[in-house]
Amino acid sequence: MYSIIGGGICGLTTALAFEKLGIEYKLYEKAEELIPVGAGILLPPNALQVYDWLEILEDIKQKGSEMRRITLTKSDMSPLFDYIQDDIKEKYGFYSVSIHRWELQNILLQKIPKHKIHLNKSFASYKTSEKKVELFFHDGSKVETDYIIGADGIHSRIRKQLFPKSKIRYSGQTCWRGICDYKNISNEYQYRGIEMWGKELRFGITKIEKDKFYWFAVIKSKSNLKDNLLTIKSELSDTFNDFHPIVNHLIDKTSITNIIRSDLYDVNPMPNWYRGNICLIGDAAHATTPNMGQGGAQTIEDAYFLANAIKREQPDNVFNVFQKKRINKVNQIVKQSLMMGKIGHLKYFESLRSFIIKAIPSSLFKLRWRTVYKLG
Ligand SMILES: Cc1cc2nc3c(=O)[nH]c(=O)nc-3n(C[C@H](O)[C@H](O)[C@H](O)COP(=O)(O)OP(=O)(O)OC[C@H]3O[C@@H](n4cnc5c(N)ncnc54)[C@H](O)[C@@H]3O)c2cc1C
Repeated sequence: MYSIIGGGICGLTTALAFEKLGIEYKLYEKAEELIPVGAGILLPPNALQVYDWLEILEDIKQKGSEMRRITLTKSDMSPLFDYIQDDIKEKYGFYSVSIHRWELQNILLQKIPKHKIHLNKSFASYKTSEKKVELFFHDGSKVETDYIIGADGIHSRIRKQLFPKSKIRYSGQTCWRGICDYKNISNEYQYRGIEMWGKELRFGITKIEKDKFYWFAVIKSKSNLKDNLLTIKSELSDTFNDFHPIVNHLIDKTSITNIIRSDLYDVNPMPNWYRGNICLIGDAAHATTPNMGQGGAQTIEDAYFLANAIKREQPDNVFNVFQKKRINKVNQIVKQSLMMGKIGHLKYFESLRSFIIKAIPSSLFKLRWRTVYKLG
């Protein structure tokens, strides 16, 4: 029996992958109910290949919005790099999809038998003996299991017990995410992800469903600061005032209840994700800054490779095979993403940065994206 701890994107995708391959599992989630998180998520082709295998790709395409083109621009929206991803569509049969996180969660939840998801079960600690593992929860209950899959996110309690020296790193950046209604938006914003880079600031936009837009705004900041809900919209508008007018338009159209703030952290890459019968996956093992839009996608890839390793390998070898398959790709993404965030927030040399980005052959950028989009 596998016990998955955490019902985020990773835990739920892992549960569905276990369902598909007939692997025995139970999922424990600390929340009393799985409620909507008010943000969008980009699902790139590596994530969508897994969802295609799990037979939920059509639902995702139906609820989300295709992203056929990725454009990096200056703050006034003059392009630095533009990638119309027809080659990706040709290779995989689909583009990336942007979707409301709640819609994705819902699609996953509908396919997982309810009795296998145990809500209001906050993992507290584990104890290992000969062959079994005991799981203890904050409500005082305990269960016996064979294996623990730690999918409990970046602040993973399992990671803290398994690898007490592991560390998370603050990137020095904080991010607001918003969703707003936007009818009759011009064609140039349809089916497209645009990220604008200004001086120490970034702003990204993409459609996530019919007449709904998702945006994110990133600034350099100390961590753990709180917003004043009465003034945050005007503060954001002032901060991004020099950007293309659509930025303030979107902020203006967003209800304050649809704006969430997150400090951007990652997990300092670890040499090992497992020990004995306990294995970390998803953000618990390798949270990355979101600058490449790959954090969730990497957790989704984990679910696929872990489930297949369990199906094919001898039990003692599963976590080793899984880690070997995943760790190099993930570590590279963590590193590059952190670097991208730093370049995107340069205080000086903005013109030089633009000059260099334009000078790099677009074939090089495209090659990198194609490598990331390859499953595994
Ligand atoms: C600003 C921002 C934008 C992003 N944009 C993208 C994007 O566009 N594309 C992309 O692919 N990725 C993106 N990501 C990354 C993505 O959101 C994460 O990689 C992904 O959500 C991680 O999923 P997870 O299931 O591993 O962790 P989580 O989503 O954190 O889920 C962990 C789950 O475990 C539960 N849990 C925690 N502790 C316990 C406990 N003790 N007991 C039981 N349950 C517990 C939690 O309640 C939660 O449900 C973004 C991240 C951020 C911060």
